[in-house]
Parts: sequence; C-alpha cells; structure tokens
Amino acid sequence: MDRSGSSVGKQHINIDHPLNILRNSPHYTSDPHFRRRADMRIAREQKFAGGRLFNLDIEITTICNLACRTCYNVSTKPQIMTVEQFSRILADARQLVECLEMDGLWLTISGGEPLTNNWIWDMLQLAQGPDIKGIAIITNGTLINQETAKLMESLGISEVMISLDGASAQTHDAIRGQGSFARTMRGVEILYSTIRA
Ligand code: SF4
Repeated sequence: MDRSGSSVGKQHINIDHPLNILRNSPHYTSDPHFRRRADMRIAREQKFAGGRLFNLDIEITTICNLACRTCYNVSTKPQIMTVEQFSRILADARQLVECLEMDGLWLTISGGEPLTNNWIWDMLQLAQGPDIKGIAIITNGTLINQETAKLMESLGISEVMISLDGASAQTHDAIRGQGSFARTMRGVEILYSTIRA
C-alpha cells in the first residue's frame, strides 16, 4: 500500500487528495460561495506546501457552558487567560518565528469553550498582521450569535471547528446535554448565513 491508496484483497481503493474532493464537489460549480471558500482553502494549501508555519495552539479558558460526558477538561481547575498573558505568549511566538526564519504563524484558539472568555476579541485584535497566516477557533458553537459571527468574519478567522457527536439530537445530546444539538446547529446556521451575506 502507498500513500495514494490502499488495497483490500484484489480491490484497489483510491483515496483522493482532499483538495481534489473540494474541486470535484458538485457545489464547486453550482455554489459561488462554496467555490470562494474552497479556492481560499486551496490557495492556502498551495501557498504553504513545503513552507514552514509555527503552529500555536492556545486554550484561552478551561471554563465551558456545557458538561459533555466525554470532556477532556472536566477535572481541570476553572481558569481564564487574560489579554496580557495572551499578548506575552503571542509576542514570544512571533519572536520565535522571526528567529527561526519561518514563513509565519498559524493560531488555533480553543478551551474549554473559548467564547466564554469575553477577552477573546481583544486577543484576536492582537493577532492581526501579515505574519499571521491563519486563525482557527475550536468551539461547541452554542454561543455563536450574529454579533460573534460578524466579529469572526471581520477579524479574519480562517476556520471555525465545531464539535458534533452524531447527526441527530438523540446521539449528540446524549453526550453533550439536552438541547445542545439545536443550539449548536443554530450557531452553525448563523455563522453560515453571516459568511454568505
Ligand atoms: S464542549 Fe468541549 S470543553 Fe465544553 S464540556 Fe464539551 S468537550 Fe468539554
């Protein structure tokens, strides 16, 4: 078996490259918004193919508004990062990028639930500039409203990763709590409609 596929008995299964999956999707030709996002993703992948990005993952709080049965943070003491702490970490990372002559910095913000930290927007303001090549937020999606969606868009968030435990309220809520599926999906809809607007 090589990196491009795998063999099961005599049958060969071809695993397509993720960028080709985006390009070959029917949405790529029918939906200009999908095409715009896909082109951005493809451009980013191509630009940094072989490049060196410093990947900085920061948990800006251990606090969360949900209490998932599978939570990795459940026994952690409630803590919240201040803007000053974030600023120092970011400055150190920027200095490292410069010293190591890297191509830039990719920032991933998580928690806990990062949107419970009201200073997140001040932190994201600090993370602007040509050295920041992308910002991702990992969230449960339940606290996304029109205001937060607009802020994410205006602050150039490249990726919002939203956790789902199944495709129905039955499976998701069994792990994440009653009503959480509906709240998360509402966040997804708001975000999607804001980006398309
Ligand atoms: S949403 Fe994430 S941080 Fe919050 S309780 Fe669930 S697993 Fe833990």
